[in-house]
Amino acid sequence: MSTQKNPNDGNVFLIDMTKCTGCRGCQVACKQWNQLEAEKTEFFSGEGYQNPPAMSDKTFTRIKFRDYQKNGQNEFAFYKEMCMHCNEPACASVCPVGAFHKTEEGPVIYNADRCIGCRFCMIACPFGVPKYEWSKAFPLVKKCTGCYSRIKAGMKPACATACPTAISYGPRHEMIKEAERRLTMYPDRYLKTVYGKEEAGGTSVMYLTALPFDELGFKKVTLRPLPGYTWQALRLVPSVFLTVGGGLSALSWINHRKERLSRLRDEEAENTETKEDK
Ligand code: SF4
Ligand code: SF4
Ligand code: SF4
Repeated sequence: MSTQKNPNDGNVFLIDMTKCTGCRGCQVACKQWNQLEAEKTEFFSGEGYQNPPAMSDKTFTRIKFRDYQKNGQNEFAFYKEMCMHCNEPACASVCPVGAFHKTEEGPVIYNADRCIGCRFCMIACPFGVPKYEWSKAFPLVKKCTGCYSRIKAGMKPACATACPTAISYGPRHEMIKEAERRLTMYPDRYLKTVYGKEEAGGTSVMYLTALPFDELGFKKVTLRPLPGYTWQALRLVPSVFLTVGGGLSALSWINHRKERLSRLRDEEAENTETKEDK
Protein backbone atom coordinates (compact mmCIF):
# COMPACT_ATOMS: atom_id res chain seq x y z
CA MET A 1 0.00 0.00 0.00
CA SER A 2 1.28 3.48 -0.85
CA THR A 3 2.05 5.66 2.16
CA GLN A 4 2.91 8.70 0.09
CA LYS A 5 0.34 11.45 0.67
CA ASN A 6 0.99 13.27 -2.58
CA PRO A 7 3.37 11.74 -5.16
CA ASN A 8 3.92 15.24 -6.60
CA ASP A 9 5.75 16.19 -3.41
CA GLY A 10 8.41 13.48 -3.75
CA ASN A 11 11.70 13.80 -5.59
CA VAL A 12 12.15 12.07 -8.94
CA PHE A 13 14.89 11.31 -11.42
CA LEU A 14 14.60 12.90 -14.85
CA ILE A 15 16.94 10.88 -17.07
CA ASP A 16 17.49 12.38 -20.50
CA MET A 17 18.82 9.47 -22.54
CA THR A 18 19.66 11.81 -25.45
CA LYS A 19 22.28 13.43 -23.18
CA CYS A 20 23.76 10.15 -21.94
CA THR A 21 27.27 9.38 -23.20
CA GLY A 22 27.30 5.77 -22.00
CA CYS A 23 30.19 6.51 -19.62
CA ARG A 24 28.63 4.27 -16.91
CA GLY A 25 29.80 6.56 -14.12
CA CYS A 26 26.33 6.00 -12.63
CA GLN A 27 26.87 2.23 -12.51
CA VAL A 28 30.21 2.65 -10.75
CA ALA A 29 28.87 5.25 -8.29
CA CYS A 30 25.99 2.93 -7.40
CA LYS A 31 28.39 0.04 -6.77
CA GLN A 32 30.65 2.23 -4.64
CA TRP A 33 27.92 3.80 -2.52
CA ASN A 34 26.10 0.52 -1.92
CA GLN A 35 29.33 -1.48 -1.53
CA LEU A 36 28.20 -4.00 -4.12
CA GLU A 37 30.55 -6.72 -5.30
CA ALA A 38 31.92 -6.59 -8.82
CA GLU A 39 30.56 -9.12 -11.30
CA LYS A 40 32.39 -11.02 -14.00
CA THR A 41 31.75 -9.30 -17.31
CA GLU A 42 32.25 -10.33 -20.92
CA PHE A 43 32.46 -8.28 -24.06
CA PHE A 44 29.34 -8.71 -26.23
CA SER A 45 27.51 -10.58 -23.49
CA GLY A 46 23.82 -10.81 -24.40
CA GLU A 47 22.05 -8.42 -26.71
CA GLY A 48 23.77 -5.07 -27.25
CA TYR A 49 27.06 -4.11 -25.63
CA GLN A 50 26.00 -3.75 -22.01
CA ASN A 51 27.77 -5.24 -19.05
CA PRO A 52 26.94 -6.98 -16.81
CA PRO A 53 24.38 -8.88 -18.88
CA ALA A 54 21.49 -8.16 -16.46
CA MET A 55 20.61 -6.31 -13.26
CA SER A 56 21.20 -8.52 -10.23
CA ASP A 57 21.52 -8.55 -6.44
CA LYS A 58 24.96 -6.97 -7.03
CA THR A 59 24.00 -4.54 -9.82
CA PHE A 60 21.15 -2.14 -9.01
CA THR A 61 21.48 -0.06 -12.16
CA ARG A 62 22.83 -0.70 -15.62
CA ILE A 63 23.26 1.18 -18.88
CA LYS A 64 21.79 -0.72 -21.82
CA PHE A 65 23.33 -0.02 -25.21
CA ARG A 66 21.44 -0.01 -28.49
CA ASP A 67 23.18 0.59 -31.82
CA TYR A 68 21.23 1.99 -34.74
CA GLN A 69 21.69 3.85 -38.03
CA LYS A 70 21.08 7.58 -38.39
CA ASN A 71 21.72 9.33 -41.71
CA GLY A 72 23.88 6.39 -42.77
CA GLN A 73 26.03 6.62 -39.62
CA ASN A 74 26.29 4.14 -36.76
CA GLU A 75 24.92 5.67 -33.55
CA PHE A 76 24.40 4.47 -29.99
CA ALA A 77 21.37 5.06 -27.79
CA PHE A 78 21.30 4.26 -24.08
CA TYR A 79 18.83 3.30 -21.38
CA LYS A 80 19.60 3.48 -17.65
CA GLU A 81 17.76 0.59 -16.00
CA MET A 82 16.91 0.84 -12.29
CA CYS A 83 13.98 0.59 -9.89
CA MET A 84 11.25 2.99 -11.05
CA HIS A 85 10.18 3.86 -7.49
CA CYS A 86 6.53 3.63 -8.56
CA ASN A 87 4.00 5.95 -6.95
CA GLU A 88 1.82 2.89 -6.34
CA PRO A 89 4.38 0.08 -6.15
CA ALA A 90 3.20 -3.40 -7.07
CA CYS A 91 6.04 -4.87 -4.96
CA ALA A 92 4.65 -3.19 -1.83
CA SER A 93 1.05 -4.10 -2.63
CA VAL A 94 1.72 -7.86 -2.65
CA CYS A 95 4.18 -8.06 0.25
CA PRO A 96 2.30 -9.88 3.05
CA VAL A 97 4.46 -8.40 5.81
CA GLY A 98 4.90 -4.81 4.54
CA ALA A 99 8.61 -5.12 3.81
CA PHE A 100 8.37 -2.52 1.00
CA HIS A 101 6.97 0.95 1.26
CA LYS A 102 6.83 4.15 -0.73
CA THR A 103 8.39 7.00 1.23
CA GLU A 104 7.19 10.59 1.17
CA GLU A 105 10.60 11.57 -0.21
CA GLY A 106 10.11 9.39 -3.32
CA PRO A 107 12.12 6.14 -3.02
CA VAL A 108 10.44 2.78 -2.50
CA ILE A 109 12.47 1.12 0.25
CA TYR A 110 12.83 -2.41 1.64
CA ASN A 111 12.99 -3.49 5.26
CA ALA A 112 15.08 -6.68 5.50
CA ASP A 113 13.99 -7.28 9.10
CA ARG A 114 10.42 -7.81 7.95
CA CYS A 115 11.12 -9.90 4.85
CA ILE A 116 10.09 -13.56 5.06
CA GLY A 117 11.61 -14.50 1.70
CA CYS A 118 8.32 -15.27 -0.11
CA ARG A 119 9.50 -13.38 -3.23
CA PHE A 120 6.00 -12.18 -4.23
CA CYS A 121 7.62 -8.80 -4.90
CA MET A 122 9.75 -10.36 -7.63
CA ILE A 123 6.69 -11.80 -9.35
CA ALA A 124 4.66 -8.61 -8.99
CA CYS A 125 7.16 -5.99 -10.19
CA PRO A 126 6.35 -5.19 -13.84
CA PHE A 127 9.89 -3.95 -14.40
CA GLY A 128 11.68 -7.10 -13.16
CA VAL A 129 13.61 -5.15 -10.55
CA PRO A 130 13.79 -7.02 -7.19
CA LYS A 131 16.49 -9.71 -7.19
CA TYR A 132 17.15 -12.49 -4.70
CA GLU A 133 20.55 -13.33 -3.23
CA TRP A 134 20.46 -16.92 -4.48
CA SER A 135 24.15 -17.45 -3.77
CA LYS A 136 23.83 -16.63 -0.04
CA ALA A 137 22.98 -19.02 2.79
CA PHE A 138 20.39 -16.54 4.16
CA PRO A 139 19.23 -14.58 1.13
CA LEU A 140 17.46 -11.23 1.07
CA VAL A 141 15.77 -9.27 -1.71
CA LYS A 142 17.97 -6.58 -3.27
CA LYS A 143 17.16 -3.58 -5.42
CA CYS A 144 17.98 0.11 -5.92
CA THR A 145 17.19 1.98 -2.71
CA GLY A 146 16.83 5.35 -4.43
CA CYS A 147 19.79 6.19 -2.16
CA TYR A 148 17.29 6.89 0.60
CA SER A 149 19.98 7.39 3.26
CA ARG A 150 21.72 10.01 1.09
CA ILE A 151 18.44 11.84 0.48
CA LYS A 152 17.68 11.87 4.20
CA ALA A 153 21.14 13.43 4.69
CA GLY A 154 20.36 16.16 2.15
CA MET A 155 22.36 14.66 -0.72
CA LYS A 156 21.32 13.56 -4.19
CA PRO A 157 21.44 9.85 -5.13
CA ALA A 158 24.94 8.60 -5.95
CA CYS A 159 24.17 7.95 -9.63
CA ALA A 160 22.61 11.41 -10.09
CA THR A 161 25.63 13.00 -8.39
CA ALA A 162 28.13 11.15 -10.58
CA CYS A 163 26.37 11.70 -13.91
CA PRO A 164 28.01 14.52 -15.87
CA THR A 165 25.17 15.12 -18.33
CA ALA A 166 21.95 13.14 -18.25
CA ILE A 167 20.41 12.78 -14.76
CA SER A 168 18.48 15.56 -13.03
CA TYR A 169 16.92 15.09 -9.61
CA GLY A 170 14.25 17.18 -7.91
CA PRO A 171 10.56 17.60 -7.03
CA ARG A 172 8.26 15.70 -9.40
CA HIS A 173 6.29 18.73 -10.60
CA GLU A 174 9.54 20.60 -11.39
CA MET A 175 11.03 17.67 -13.27
CA ILE A 176 7.83 17.24 -15.32
CA LYS A 177 7.89 20.95 -16.15
CA GLU A 178 11.53 20.70 -17.21
CA ALA A 179 10.87 17.58 -19.33
CA GLU A 180 7.97 19.29 -21.09
CA ARG A 181 10.08 22.40 -21.64
CA ARG A 182 12.68 20.29 -23.45
CA LEU A 183 10.02 18.57 -25.56
CA THR A 184 8.69 21.98 -26.64
CA MET A 185 12.11 23.57 -27.21
CA TYR A 186 13.61 20.65 -29.15
CA PRO A 187 10.74 18.84 -30.89
CA ASP A 188 13.09 17.12 -33.39
CA ARG A 189 15.31 15.72 -30.69
CA TYR A 190 12.79 13.78 -28.62
CA LEU A 191 10.00 11.27 -28.79
CA LYS A 192 7.06 13.38 -27.60
CA THR A 193 6.42 11.47 -24.37
CA VAL A 194 7.81 11.52 -20.85
CA TYR A 195 8.10 7.85 -19.83
CA GLY A 196 7.11 7.49 -16.17
CA LYS A 197 4.82 10.51 -16.02
CA GLU A 198 1.82 8.19 -16.27
CA GLU A 199 3.22 4.68 -16.81
CA ALA A 200 2.19 2.25 -14.05
CA GLY A 201 0.25 5.12 -12.46
CA GLY A 202 3.32 7.39 -12.42
CA THR A 203 6.85 6.67 -11.22
CA SER A 204 9.68 8.52 -9.51
CA VAL A 205 12.01 7.79 -12.42
CA MET A 206 11.14 9.51 -15.70
CA TYR A 207 12.85 9.37 -19.06
CA LEU A 208 13.23 11.39 -22.24
CA THR A 209 14.45 9.49 -25.31
CA ALA A 210 14.94 9.94 -29.02
CA LEU A 211 14.07 6.36 -30.00
CA PRO A 212 10.78 4.55 -29.27
CA PHE A 213 10.83 3.08 -25.75
CA ASP A 214 10.38 -0.54 -26.85
CA GLU A 215 13.42 -0.26 -29.15
CA LEU A 216 15.54 0.73 -26.15
CA GLY A 217 14.25 -2.14 -24.02
CA PHE A 218 11.78 -0.25 -21.82
CA LYS A 219 9.04 -2.46 -20.39
CA LYS A 220 5.57 -2.00 -21.83
CA VAL A 221 3.24 -1.30 -18.90
CA THR A 222 -0.30 0.02 -18.54
CA LEU A 223 -0.96 3.60 -17.48
CA ARG A 224 -3.17 2.30 -14.68
CA PRO A 225 -1.49 1.72 -11.30
CA LEU A 226 -0.52 -1.95 -11.11
CA PRO A 227 -1.42 -3.10 -7.57
CA GLY A 228 -5.02 -3.87 -8.67
CA TYR A 229 -3.81 -6.14 -11.47
CA THR A 230 -1.14 -7.86 -9.41
CA TRP A 231 -3.58 -8.75 -6.65
CA GLN A 232 -5.89 -10.26 -9.26
CA ALA A 233 -3.00 -12.38 -10.54
CA LEU A 234 -1.70 -13.32 -7.10
CA ARG A 235 -4.98 -13.78 -5.27
CA LEU A 236 -4.48 -17.56 -5.08
CA VAL A 237 -0.89 -17.40 -3.94
CA PRO A 238 -1.47 -16.90 -0.18
CA SER A 239 -2.89 -20.43 0.02
CA VAL A 240 0.36 -21.71 -1.52
CA PHE A 241 2.31 -19.55 0.89
CA LEU A 242 0.52 -21.09 3.87
CA THR A 243 1.64 -24.59 2.85
CA VAL A 244 5.32 -23.67 2.37
CA GLY A 245 7.62 -25.58 4.62
CA GLY A 246 5.53 -28.75 4.75
CA GLY A 247 4.59 -29.12 8.41
CA LEU A 248 5.69 -25.64 9.45
CA SER A 249 3.04 -23.02 10.09
CA ALA A 250 3.53 -19.66 8.35
CA LEU A 251 4.24 -18.04 11.70
CA SER A 252 6.97 -20.44 12.77
CA TRP A 253 8.54 -20.11 9.32
CA ILE A 254 8.61 -16.33 9.68
CA ASN A 255 10.09 -16.53 13.16
CA HIS A 256 12.61 -19.13 12.10
CA ARG A 257 13.79 -16.96 9.23
CA LYS A 258 14.02 -13.91 11.46
CA GLU A 259 16.12 -15.85 13.95
CA ARG A 260 18.44 -17.07 11.19
CA LEU A 261 18.85 -13.55 9.81
CA SER A 262 19.54 -12.15 13.24
CA ARG A 263 22.12 -14.91 13.88
CA LEU A 264 23.75 -14.17 10.55
CA ARG A 265 23.96 -10.47 11.37
CA ASP A 266 25.55 -11.24 14.74
CA GLU A 267 28.08 -13.51 13.04
CA GLU A 268 28.87 -10.87 10.43
CA ALA A 269 29.30 -8.22 13.15
CA GLU A 270 31.64 -10.55 15.06
CA ASN A 271 33.67 -11.24 11.91
CA THR A 272 33.98 -7.51 11.21
CA GLU A 273 35.12 -6.84 14.78
CA THR A 274 37.66 -9.66 14.55
CA LYS A 275 39.03 -8.25 11.29
CA GLU A 276 39.27 -4.76 12.79
CA ASP A 277 41.09 -6.11 15.85
CA LYS A 278 43.80 -7.70 13.68
S1 SF4 B 1 9.89 -0.83 -10.19
FE1 SF4 B 1 9.26 -2.73 -9.20
S2 SF4 B 1 10.56 -2.86 -7.37
FE2 SF4 B 1 10.62 -0.72 -8.08
S3 SF4 B 1 8.96 0.31 -6.94
FE3 SF4 B 1 8.08 -0.33 -8.90
S4 SF4 B 1 7.16 -2.34 -8.46
FE4 SF4 B 1 8.60 -1.91 -6.77
S1 SF4 C 1 19.56 5.74 -6.73
FE1 SF4 C 1 21.30 4.94 -5.58
S2 SF4 C 1 20.88 2.75 -5.42
FE2 SF4 C 1 19.54 3.54 -7.06
S3 SF4 C 1 20.68 3.29 -8.99
FE3 SF4 C 1 21.17 5.34 -8.22
S4 SF4 C 1 23.03 5.05 -7.01
FE4 SF4 C 1 22.11 3.04 -7.27
S1 SF4 D 1 26.66 8.64 -15.69
FE1 SF4 D 1 25.11 9.73 -16.90
S2 SF4 D 1 26.08 9.96 -18.94
FE2 SF4 D 1 27.25 8.37 -17.86
S3 SF4 D 1 26.24 6.45 -18.46
FE3 SF4 D 1 25.25 7.09 -16.54
S4 SF4 D 1 23.43 8.25 -17.22
FE4 SF4 D 1 24.82 8.10 -19.00
